Amino acid sequence: MRILPIYLYGSAVLRTRAQEVTRVTETLKKQISAMVDTMFTADGVGLAANQVGLLKRVIVINPCEEDDNGQERLEALVLLNPEVVEQKGKFKMKEGCLSLPDIREDVTRAECITIRFQDLELNSLTLEADGLTARVLLHEIDHLNGVMFVDHLSLARRALLRGKLRSISRGKCETEYPVVADKSAPRKKTAAQKKKGLR
Ligand SMILES: [Zn+2]
Repeated sequence: MRILPIYLYGSAVLRTRAQEVTRVTETLKKQISAMVDTMFTADGVGLAANQVGLLKRVIVINPCEEDDNGQERLEALVLLNPEVVEQKGKFKMKEGCLSLPDIREDVTRAECITIRFQDLELNSLTLEADGLTARVLLHEIDHLNGVMFVDHLSLARRALLRGKLRSISRGKCETEYPVVADKSAPRKKTAAQKKKGLR
């Protein structure tokens, strides 16, 4: 089992677009397996590769969250290159993020979604999801595009969180899992970073 430190809000990797996976190497498989271990250890409902400093379009989802009686740990869902092809309805729900400890805010997202993704053998698959699962998928896909859930909040709401966000970006927060505060991260994406994200 390998636990990776999770990058905190303010880190450049969280604001960079992850690159498409075109080949599943042994190294990538090991990194994905470490992502799964990290997600379960941190008690997360999902995790995107950016959050562990890996700029690849990979997300992992914890299927246990909706299974109230599930004693045994179900296998995590691994999705490569996920993209949203359809969204329907809207609903509001409190959201959190392992990169934003201690912040939970209402976010409005689609209720039903259809996504296309690839599995570890690079087979193309389609998945329909609703409710919490849809929300987790949209949250993690956002990460791959350098978007964090606080970006969906109103300016007024974000202004109220400013102090807390600043503390998190300086690593001043308590977590039960290892974290990294990348203090070198610029506040806004530079032209060079944007270029890098698109490559
Ligand atoms: Zn998150």
